[in-house]
Amino acid sequence: MDKLFENYSLKNHNTFGIDVNARYYYEFSATEEIVFFLRENPVSKIKKIILGLGSNIVFTKDFDGIVIHPKVRGLQVVEETTEHVLLKIGAGEIWDNFVNYCCKKNYGGAENLSLIPGMIGASPVQNIGAYGVEAKDIIEEVEAVNIETQEIKKFRNQDCKFEYRNSIFKNELKGKYIVTYVTYKLSKKPVLNICYGKIKDELKKFNKKDISTVREAIINIRNRKLPDPEKIGNAGSFFKNPIIDCKKTQELRKEFPNIVSYKVSETKDKIATGWLIEQCGLKGKNFGKVGTYKDQALVIVNYGDATGKDVFNLAKDIQQTVYDKFGIIIDMEVNIV
Ligand SMILES: Cc1cc2nc3c(=O)[nH]c(=O)nc-3n(C[C@H](O)[C@H](O)[C@H](O)COP(=O)(O)OP(=O)(O)OC[C@H]3O[C@@H](n4cnc5c(N)ncnc54)[C@H](O)[C@@H]3O)c2cc1C
Repeated sequence: MDKLFENYSLKNHNTFGIDVNARYYYEFSATEEIVFFLRENPVSKIKKIILGLGSNIVFTKDFDGIVIHPKVRGLQVVEETTEHVLLKIGAGEIWDNFVNYCCKKNYGGAENLSLIPGMIGASPVQNIGAYGVEAKDIIEEVEAVNIETQEIKKFRNQDCKFEYRNSIFKNELKGKYIVTYVTYKLSKKPVLNICYGKIKDELKKFNKKDISTVREAIINIRNRKLPDPEKIGNAGSFFKNPIIDCKKTQELRKEFPNIVSYKVSETKDKIATGWLIEQCGLKGKNFGKVGTYKDQALVIVNYGDATGKDVFNLAKDIQQTVYDKFGIIIDMEVNIV
């Protein structure tokens, strides 16, 4: 059933734990509810934002509009062959529960994305990624409601214009659609993708190599590296890794021989932002109520009662410091509201 609240605290609805209020907060469990609400309720006409688990968002002030929270549940097998399975999942399901389900069933493709916080609905919006895999690699179709017309539209994978941590839903269709279901294509003959990061080393601790052990290995690595939002407020990596011309990397390497870069094409390199921030002496630094995490400079943390502005201001300072030292602009990955 859907519910509408007025003057609603978002403190428990964002992993930074920022204490701001929304003028209205609306949650729904079925497509018909949101369609009816958007069509009939005058409250739905004001400024709006869609909120999943709030694990990639910073609210810098009270939100004078309506926060819409999809709670659509359910997992349905829509097609199954000897090779693959298509699973359609409600936007309000927890992402990692889905990954766990796939691993238990030995359906391959999602295991490298283990333990990423958030809901299913945000996975295509953000094109979440980790350890060499992105949501785009397994997304078959995204079902969403057009906020203005209430039309239900199905986006095929190629319609979503996926890029690194980016999609059509963050660009030309930003704020125009509410994702209600996502269909993923998983392999019944999984091929493990363990070349990235420290997965191979971690797997040596197990006496077998399969989807479930890859999941366990990734969970172990992540737990060592990333702060648990239940214990210390954060939104994961605050910045994207910039993609720059190889020529620029070569120039930088003369001055900074240890710069961490990965080739993404003949002419472009991806630079590790964590390394850039660390070189500026900003890893594990405390700036009053906010700071950078001791084990991962990319993560900004809330030590207690920081405001969204405190977080945003630190992020701006970090951007400037990195630019001054390396001449590289690092974009924020986290959505600023
Ligand atoms: C400790 C930690 C580790 C993380 N690690 C990773 C990682 O390894 N890789 C990675 O990619 N991300 C990572 N993240 C970021 C985050 O988990 C993802 O971005 C996740 O997809 C956000 O999901 P959410 O439900 O919390 O979305 P929210 O933060 O609530 O929203 C994110 C954006 O999606 C939009 N949105 C959400 N749901 C919908 C919907 N149903 N329809 C339309 N728009 C919607 C929102 O408006 C907003 O713009 C991490 C975060 C934390 C806290």
